[in-house]
Amino acid sequence: MLAYIGLGSNLNQPKQQIKTAVLALHNAKDIEVVNLSSLYQSKPIDGSKQPDYINAVCQVNTHLTALELLYACQDIENKQHRVREKKWGARTIDLDIILYGVQVVASKQLIIPHPQMMNRAFVLVPLSELEDDLKVPVLGPLQDLIDKLDTSELIKL
Ligand code: ATP
Ligand code: CA
Ligand code: CA
Repeated sequence: MLAYIGLGSNLNQPKQQIKTAVLALHNAKDIEVVNLSSLYQSKPIDGSKQPDYINAVCQVNTHLTALELLYACQDIENKQHRVREKKWGARTIDLDIILYGVQVVASKQLIIPHPQMMNRAFVLVPLSELEDDLKVPVLGPLQDLIDKLDTSELIKL
């Protein structure tokens, strides 16, 4: 199954955190990283006073179920010492499943497509680097989603 994972970090050398997490994904059992977007710099989504974020999206090929993939992502977050404080607070690493093939998931633990993806330039723009003519399940063409967003604060590194 082809899936897309969004990565974000704004603590403890964010660029390095992203690279470490991509490598950890690639080394995880039954996950192969097949493509990685450029790195981007974005402002915190809640407008709070915390460092800017570094973001990227990677494409993985996996034999894991969507839920197993979530657990693998959480395992990597834990290994990179993610501390859960307040919602949307600063973090060393965040791994979100953006898409899992064309599958739609709506459980207590897992929602796919990621429920905020359409509101986030730092997800959609790197995603479009990897597959610009993507049609997102439920939400429609990726380019239409991007056209609706303000991407002016997103900086490609
Ligand atoms: P946001 O979800 O708005 O990006 P966040 O990434 O800061 O916020 P977390 O604290 O990392 O939120 O995650 C909270 C919970 O979201 C996780 O425990 C997980 O069960 C759930 N979740 C639901 N859908 C997804 C998904 N597609 N990818 C990752 N986590 C998800
Ligand atoms: Ca997130
Ligand atoms: Ca998350």
